Amino acid sequence: MAKTARWGPYTNMKAVAENGPEVIVRAEGVYAYDEAGRRYIDGHGGLWLVNVGYGRREIVDAIARQAEELAWFDSFGGFANRPSMRLADRLVDLMAPDGMAHVFFGNDGSEAVETALKIARQYWKMRGRANKYKFITRARAYHGVTFGALSVQGVTANRVMFEPLLPGVVHVAAPYATQCSMHPDAPVCTFACVRAVEDAIVTQGPDTVAAMIMEPVQAAGGVIIPPPSYMAQVAEICRRHEVLLIADEVVTGFGRLGDWFGSRHYGVKPDMMTMAKGLTSGYLPMGATAVSEAVFSAFVEGGGSGPEFRHGNTYSGHPVAAAAALANIDIIEREDLPGNARAMGEVLKASLAAVRAHHPYWVVDARAEGLLGRLQLRDPSGRRTGADLTAAVARGMHDRGVIVRPIEDIITYSPPLTINEAQVQEMVAAADDTLTALSAVGSAAGS
Ligand code: PLP
Repeated sequence: MAKTARWGPYTNMKAVAENGPEVIVRAEGVYAYDEAGRRYIDGHGGLWLVNVGYGRREIVDAIARQAEELAWFDSFGGFANRPSMRLADRLVDLMAPDGMAHVFFGNDGSEAVETALKIARQYWKMRGRANKYKFITRARAYHGVTFGALSVQGVTANRVMFEPLLPGVVHVAAPYATQCSMHPDAPVCTFACVRAVEDAIVTQGPDTVAAMIMEPVQAAGGVIIPPPSYMAQVAEICRRHEVLLIADEVVTGFGRLGDWFGSRHYGVKPDMMTMAKGLTSGYLPMGATAVSEAVFSAFVEGGGSGPEFRHGNTYSGHPVAAAAALANIDIIEREDLPGNARAMGEVLKASLAAVRAHHPYWVVDARAEGLLGRLQLRDPSGRRTGADLTAAVARGMHDRGVIVRPIEDIITYSPPLTINEAQVQEMVAAADDTLTALSAVGSAAGS
């Protein structure tokens, strides 16, 4: 086992010290290979993001060309590089239906969110309403790890060690159909979680609330798929109370739900959109925050002689990352990967439903939106917690050649958008077979 000084992110280093890290050395298409040469379907898309799949020569070539021509130059003040300008224009063209007009670059999703939160605060100051500084977010939301982004996270376990966090952040319930915390006994959805958003804004005072941030589908919270009209209803409430809506598209952007962006999927035009992950499919790190013309204009009209938005990362608009993003977007467009996500999403949905039908005592919920899927499990014997069970299922799937990400009692799916029907079925069959094996062990133990 390789000993290593590396301290892994969100990693139990005691377990790594005992078992060693699992080293992946190569990847191609939807497959990843470990050091022993074993092949796995990457059902998690390398952390929700390898939308175009692995090993794309044209992205590698674009990176090499740009690195040779101009690997780096500063973007502060008045400097700019051509790839980041081309990318901003391309993104604005792509996001015209979503109402986006300008793009600010960073390096990852946390920075994209941090930037959006700071834009929201400064926007209201520039508009003469400095008291609008609070943020509304939701339970189980994942928005990143920097202090601002962490403060609007709703994953409690991620926050508690770092408190106190940003003041003025209010959490409301998530639209969690199978675990409704608002009206769990109602025979049909009453949209109490939508009313909770308005209640929070009104209770805080609309004049004190800067923005609401939301993932169109909450990914790292456990693939929480809202009722189809949820996001539009929340957007209307935000608009009515003059609260900016930040759509966090870090996972849902670039085709995952079957449309280019999650906001479009749900018929919403937000005021800002954050993105990362699928922007480059992970070939290089990059994040971005897009804003509407109305938001941008407040900064231009603001006057003054210094930089209007006193914010920026050294590597904002990195030319090589921008070249990778442009090549990545070419592929998504040319191969209509949102279309494939839509078609394969139907296969994923049907396959997950079949697992549920096959294992009704183990599967609490099975659903997918595009190529984001979830299997929520329970141990019918009550011997294992949900998290212990999904860890065992993920191990069983791993042994069967499929990598997925367990989150609490949920097995989550987020494969490359290039996946085909047979691969989707194989990826889901690994869960089915593992549950069959666990059932056999359970009944043997019970007999
Ligand atoms: N926003 C969402 C919706 C995410 O899922 C993530 C990461 O998973 C982030 C923000 C943070 O992105 P990063 O890990 O690139 O900082």
